[in-house]
Amino acid sequence: MIDLLSKEILILVLLLLTILFGTMFVIKTVQVSKLKKRKLEKEAKREKEKQLEKQYECYEKPRREKHEKHDKHDKYEKHEVVTLLTNLLNVGFTNLSLTEQSARMAQLLREYYNMEYVTFYIKGNDGWFSTLTTNMPKYRVTRTERYYNNESQSMTSDSKVTVLEEYEKDSFLRSINVEYSNFTLIKQKGKVIGALLLEHSNRTEVENNKTQFELYNKIFNTTSLVLSHLIEVSNLIKKVSTDQLTDVYNRRFIDVTLSEEIIKHINLGQSFYIALMDIDYFKKFNDTYGHQFGDEVLKKVSKYIKDKLGQHSWVARYGGEEFLIFIANSFPEKVKMKIESIREGISKLEVSYGGQSASVTVSFGIAGFPQDGGIAESIISNADKALYQSKADGRNRVTVWGDCICKTKQRK
Ligand code: GH3
Ligand code: MG
Ligand code: MG
Repeated sequence: MIDLLSKEILILVLLLLTILFGTMFVIKTVQVSKLKKRKLEKEAKREKEKQLEKQYECYEKPRREKHEKHDKHDKYEKHEVVTLLTNLLNVGFTNLSLTEQSARMAQLLREYYNMEYVTFYIKGNDGWFSTLTTNMPKYRVTRTERYYNNESQSMTSDSKVTVLEEYEKDSFLRSINVEYSNFTLIKQKGKVIGALLLEHSNRTEVENNKTQFELYNKIFNTTSLVLSHLIEVSNLIKKVSTDQLTDVYNRRFIDVTLSEEIIKHINLGQSFYIALMDIDYFKKFNDTYGHQFGDEVLKKVSKYIKDKLGQHSWVARYGGEEFLIFIANSFPEKVKMKIESIREGISKLEVSYGGQSASVTVSFGIAGFPQDGGIAESIISNADKALYQSKADGRNRVTVWGDCICKTKQRK
């Protein structure tokens, strides 16, 4: 009985053990397969990620490189633009003449920003003139608007309105071949004082690239701002450089311009002459006919000289009844002839005032650059000594410093 019982127990134990081990085996197998599955899944995921990374890199790399390149380019361009704008503004603060300043600006615009055509138009009292034309565009430009994506940028839309308004009124403006995208008028207190034409060497690229277009606009606007400032300053200088009574240049103009002429003529490798003129016995004239009559003489004589001079020559009132005539790039004989004819002409002028008529004679002293002095003071000083000689020799005559054995002193 016991045997039978222990046998049954044994079988039961064995059965239990089998179930236990079987269960454990099944659990283990499931676990292992789960792990395997997870591992496979992980591997598959990593593989997928790798593939994605590869794909991403294919797409991202050129994009990144493009960005890096663009950043570099952009930084370079920004630097260039800042340099250009700074240089343009600096030009506005130099002591140079308007022509020289605009020449520098044009040079900067071509060097830094590929501007092919640069023209500054200035409207003076006696009409329009252009200070600089690098080359006019060869094509006949239509009056159509062209700007990026048809967006009216401030420069273009503003200038469009101004140009349209002024165009029809002004025959000079109508004669300029311009498009609104590269041409603007410069106004001051509602009055047109100038115009600006800037043409990029690759206009299509500029018009189709937003960054380029914005850059172009910045440069355009800065240039027009500087030009407006230059014209304003130049007009002010003209105002303070004119003698009120005679309407010819004054002493201030001589002081500024003669030094500029020296630099200009050194660069050109050319000579110039100055003639100092003094009215003979003018004190006596005033005493005889009155100071107001004397003023009429000063006006008539200076106008006569002004009308006799060519484009590159000018006359200025040096002081009192003394005038300085500047004659550019000429031969000594020609200068002497010219001054002789002026002297003779003045002696024949009849001035009438208050029912009276009278005439005057004048004396001249001529000196030239570079042979008679390297700086304004020394040229004037030698011309003055020659003038003293003319006075000493009897007045109403011309003496050339280089020809004369001027033993005389300079006048007081
Ligand atoms: P010289 O032939 O030696 O030059 O004799 P001058 O009398 O012309 O020379 P001086 O320097 O003694 O006199 C110059 C005169 O010019 C004195 C002054 O009354 C006159 N003058 C200077 N400025 C003016 C002006 O604006 N108007 C008038 N009416 N006279 C002036
Ligand atoms: Mg005098
Ligand atoms: Mg005199």
